[in-house]
Amino acid sequence: MLMGNFRLQHLYLLAGWVAVAGCLVLGGMLFFVSLKDYRRYSQGLEEFDRFRLALLAANSVSAERGPANSLMGANPQMTPEFYRQLTNRRAHTDQAIAALEAAYAKDSSRFEKDQEAVAHLREELAEGRKAVDAVVATAMTDRQGKQLAGAINSMFRAADAATDVADRLGQTIVSVYPQVSTEIVMANNCGRLREQAGRFGSYVVMMLTATSGADTELSLMLANTAGRIEVLRELIAGYGSAYLADPAVSEMLRDVDQAYFDTALPYAWSVALKAIKEPATMTTGEFTTNYVPGMLPVEHLRDLIIERLAARITVSRDNDALLLGSSAALTLLVTTLLVVISAAMRRFLFQPLLSAKDQIIQIAHGDLAEPPLPRSFSREIRDMFEGLQVLRESQRKRTALESERDRLTARLKMLSETDSLTGLLNRRAIDGIGAQAIAEAARTREPVAFLLMDIDHFKAINDTHGHGVGDLVLQRVGETLRKEVRSIDVVARFGGEEFVVLVRSASADGGRQLAEKLRLALAAMVVSPDHADLRITASFGVALWGPGIESWAALVEQADRQLYRAKNLGRNRVCTLEDETGDENSEPTASKRKAI
Ligand code: GH3
Ligand code: MG
Ligand code: MG
Repeated sequence: MLMGNFRLQHLYLLAGWVAVAGCLVLGGMLFFVSLKDYRRYSQGLEEFDRFRLALLAANSVSAERGPANSLMGANPQMTPEFYRQLTNRRAHTDQAIAALEAAYAKDSSRFEKDQEAVAHLREELAEGRKAVDAVVATAMTDRQGKQLAGAINSMFRAADAATDVADRLGQTIVSVYPQVSTEIVMANNCGRLREQAGRFGSYVVMMLTATSGADTELSLMLANTAGRIEVLRELIAGYGSAYLADPAVSEMLRDVDQAYFDTALPYAWSVALKAIKEPATMTTGEFTTNYVPGMLPVEHLRDLIIERLAARITVSRDNDALLLGSSAALTLLVTTLLVVISAAMRRFLFQPLLSAKDQIIQIAHGDLAEPPLPRSFSREIRDMFEGLQVLRESQRKRTALESERDRLTARLKMLSETDSLTGLLNRRAIDGIGAQAIAEAARTREPVAFLLMDIDHFKAINDTHGHGVGDLVLQRVGETLRKEVRSIDVVARFGGEEFVVLVRSASADGGRQLAEKLRLALAAMVVSPDHADLRITASFGVALWGPGIESWAALVEQADRQLYRAKNLGRNRVCTLEDETGDENSEPTASKRKAI
């Protein structure tokens, strides 16, 4: 058979292992993808931290211009206060840049370009501060508007350098996590708005300090900056709509509108327009003090957006951590489950099945011994073992029935071949045995003698003593014959009051002598003490298997003829073919035969 050597157990084991391997591969893939994402987001948090620090540094650089501008245009009384403010702000900026540099220090090789940008920022800032310090060092009366504008522009370049650093970091984050681009753009735009708003203020300061009235160049720069501010306002409003659902952001957007666009900006415009028309009456410090608080909500909005950005990256990272943990746990669980199921199937199903198979083969071979049950098996298998037990029981019953049947058959055979009155073999049995003996004799050439005996005048016994006594005579004759012959010789009742003896390995003379011995024994036999006077005689015809006798029937016929002769010669005698004389009438007629 094609599938002869195929085993379901093997297929099952193979499938189990494939499933385990598949599960491990899928789980492993999920695990490593999650791990990668988790690492990415963890790293993202670091990058985000640098971005936040860069924005803070940029903001600080912009904010430095406030006290610088104030100090550069201050009246002598206010100088110490503005000087103190500027020193504070510078210290703050230095701290912010140092924090940013520290955030890069960990893996500096990866961020060479960014570090270059920070170094550039430091250079520009140093330049700007130098220019501011130069203005401050100049006597108030000698200060030129141009010199002051130069210092302010120099500080602008420092602010540009700071914005550049923040932009670079923002781009890096967006390229890795596009999903946070809204927050990055919003935060950047807030930084830019803060910067442009600061510049707008600075230009107004320049106008206030311009010695020969505000020049056209300054007006143009003011208008340009106002244009940029408008563009940024629209961008922030546009991106801000993504936060419509976030009440804190919406509120902050409203604050920016109110504090800056509706209040600080129109105020700066009015101061600038006034300065264009007439010489300034207001100090830069006064203007700065009024203008700067209007920019604070922009910074707050930026901080809020940064908070949201941090939250999003953290949530993503935490989700990945969850996915990481759950994929590992699920893989472990499913794998364990598969292994447990495989082991259970093997132990509770396949091994008991093999044991059941062995038992079925045993039962089929007639071995009904009950082997011990397997250590463990499933309920279905238990039913099967119970079924096997039932099979064993019915097999036992069948075996018992079969031996009973054999016993009955043997008994039936025995009964069918036994004469019930004498217990000797009957005619039917001796016909079978005789035919067999003749066949054997033909093969072995061993002589077989056959004695046919008939009780003389038996009818008279019946008539005189009754049928019962006749039966008793028949029984006693049977016993006597049996007693007188060898155990290998076969005695049978041939019918009525006729008996036969089949003698194997007997010569003609042997047969005749045995017949003579039997005749004498019968003649001497006492039937019963009750009938002490009852004596019987019998006549014998003896035949010997030899030439001319090919069948059992022929042997019987010859013996019958000799018996007939014995009767005719006067009964109570033995006749054989050898002692037959020619003058005797050897052919029994049908009527004569009947008379025997
Ligand atoms: P012979 O010397 O010529 O043999 O005379 P016989 O009377 O013995 O011969 P016959 O054939 O005339 O009689 C046989 C008798 O045997 C007839 C029958 O009633 C009797 N007989 C046959 N079978 C039994 C039996 O089983 N029991 C009894 N009691 N008698 C039987
Ligand atoms: Mg007779
Ligand atoms: Mg007879």
